[in-house]
Amino acid sequence: MTGSQEQHLQRLKQHFAQRVINQSRQLLELWQNLHSTQWSAQELTNMQEASQRLLRYAERFEQPEHVYIAQQLLDILSAIQANGNRLNSYFIESITRLLQQLLQTGLRDGEQIDQVFLPTMVRKPIYIALRSAEQAQHLAQQLQSFYFQVEVFANGAGFLQALARRHPAVIVLDINFAAKNYGLELARQLKQEHDTQIPIYFYSKTSVDAQTQLAAVRAGGEAFAVDVLDASSVLEKLETWVSTVQAEPYKALVVDDSKTQSAFTESVLNSAGVVTRAINDPTQALIELLDFDPDVVILDLYMPQCDGPELAKVIRFHDRFVGVPIIYLSAENDLDKQLNALSEGADDFLMKPVKPSHLVATVRNRAIRARYIKSRLLRDSLTGLFNHTHILQLLDDARNRAQKTQQPMCFVMIDIDHFKQVNDTYGHLVGDKVIKSLALFLKQRLRRTDSIGRYGGEEFAVILPNTDAESAQKVINDIRQRFSQIRFATDARDLMCTFSAGIFAYDGQADTVALTVLADQALYAAKHAGRNTVEIYVAPEL
Ligand code: GH3
Ligand code: MG
Ligand code: MG
Repeated sequence: MTGSQEQHLQRLKQHFAQRVINQSRQLLELWQNLHSTQWSAQELTNMQEASQRLLRYAERFEQPEHVYIAQQLLDILSAIQANGNRLNSYFIESITRLLQQLLQTGLRDGEQIDQVFLPTMVRKPIYIALRSAEQAQHLAQQLQSFYFQVEVFANGAGFLQALARRHPAVIVLDINFAAKNYGLELARQLKQEHDTQIPIYFYSKTSVDAQTQLAAVRAGGEAFAVDVLDASSVLEKLETWVSTVQAEPYKALVVDDSKTQSAFTESVLNSAGVVTRAINDPTQALIELLDFDPDVVILDLYMPQCDGPELAKVIRFHDRFVGVPIIYLSAENDLDKQLNALSEGADDFLMKPVKPSHLVATVRNRAIRARYIKSRLLRDSLTGLFNHTHILQLLDDARNRAQKTQQPMCFVMIDIDHFKQVNDTYGHLVGDKVIKSLALFLKQRLRRTDSIGRYGGEEFAVILPNTDAESAQKVINDIRQRFSQIRFATDARDLMCTFSAGIFAYDGQADTVALTVLADQALYAAKHAGRNTVEIYVAPEL
C-alpha cells in the first residue's frame, strides 16, 4: 500500500470508529432516558433501530466485539417485544450488562475512545417504600426527572419480591412503612438475608427517639430524614455512597530510564488496580504529566538525561503540579543522598528492589491524600463542582485539544433565572438547595468526559468536548426542561426554578477569554429573549 492509501484508510477507519462511538452513545442515551419498564412501541423501535445502526457500523468497521454486543442487544429486544414490550429484571440486567460491556470495549486504535466517550453508567433503581402513597409518588417523580429508575411499593410482600429479583442502589424506607415500625423490621430482615449491604435512607413523618435512631443504624440505615423528604437530599446521599464505590482508579506516571524496571513497576501497580503510564525518557515527563494527569509520579533517582531531583524541580516549577506526590525509586543506599533527594520536593523514597506490597501501599496512600487535597483545591465546597479557576484551566485544555484533534467542542454558560427573588422569598438556605440541586442535576445528566464548574454564585459553566452546537443545544435544552419541572420542598409552597443558557461552539479560532465572553453573550441573549431558554452564539453580520 502506498503512503497516501495508508493515510486514506486510516482516515476511513477513524471515521467509522467515530460512528461506532456515536452510535453506542446514542444507544446509551436512549436507555438512560427510559423510565418505565413498560415500553411504548416507539421506544422499542428506537432501541431496535439504534442497535441495528450500531451493528451496521461495527460490521463495516470490523469491530467483532461491537458486532457481538449489537447482535445480543437485538436478540433481547426481540424477546422484549415478544413479552409485550414489558421489561423484567432479566431483560434489565442483560441490557445493562451489554451496555456496560459496550462502554468498556476498546476500539482497535485505542487512543480515540478514552477521551471521546465514557458516559454515566446505567443506574440501578431506587426503591421507595413509604407510608403515604402520595408522598412516595411525589418523590418518585422528582427522582425520575434526575434520570433514575424508581420503583414504588405499597406493601411488604411486593417490596420483598422486588428485592429478591434485583438489588437497588438505595432504598428509601419509612420506618412506619405499611404498619408501625414495620419498615425497621423489614430492614432488619434484609440485613440478615442479604450479604451485600444496600444503603437505606430512613424516613419518619414524625420525630423519633434516640432508641429508634440507633435501631435504624443497626438495621443498615445510612441516613435519617424526619418530616421533609425531598429528592435533592436523597440524591446527595446517594451520590456520596455511589461515588465512593465507583471512584476512578488511581493513576501513576512511572519515569525510569530502564525499560525492565518500569515494566516491573507497572505490572506491580496494574495488578493492584492502579493505571500506569511509563516513560523512559525523562525529558518527556512534562508532556506526559499534562496529558495523563497522574495522581502520583514515580521517579528513578539516576537517569542519564537528567536525574530525579532535577526533574522534580522542573515539575515543581509548574503551579499545576505543585501538589503531585513524587516518589523516588532507586538502588541508592546512601542516606545523605536520599535526604537530599527528598529535600527537592519529593515525598517518599523507596529502595530497589522494592517489595510489591510496599510499592502499592505507598502509591495508594499518596494518591488518596493527593486526590483529597486536590479536590479541596479545585472544587467548590457547596456543590462539589470545579471552581471558577479550575474550570477555566480545563477550558484552556479542552480548547487546545479541540484544536489539535479538529473535533468540535462547546462551552456553555448557565445562569439561574430570577434567583434573587428565590433568596428574597424563601431565604438563602433554600437558594443554596436549588444551587446544589442544579449541580447534581448536571452531574447526573452529562457525560463523564464533560466538565462542570460553578462559575459564580448561581452561574455554572460546562465544557462539552466532541460535541457540536446542535447536540449541545439538545442536551442543555433537555436539562433545562427537566430542571424546570422539579419542585423544591420549602416551608411554604413548593418552589420551581428555571435557568437560561448560552452556548459557544468553538470555531478553531477563539482564545479562552473569547470563549467565555461569547458564551456569556449568548447567555445574555437568552435572558433577553425572556429567560428559561438556550441560545447558541451567532456572530453578528458584518
Ligand atoms: P437573572 O439572572 O434572571 O437576570 O436574575 P437574578 O436574580 O438571578 O440575577 P442576579 O445575577 O443579579 O442575582 C443573582 C443572585 O444570586 C444574587 C445573590 O444574592 C444570589 N447568590 C449568589 N450566590 C449565591 C449562593 O451561593 N447562595 C445563595 N442562596 N444565593 C446566591
Ligand atoms: Mg447571575
Ligand atoms: Mg441569575
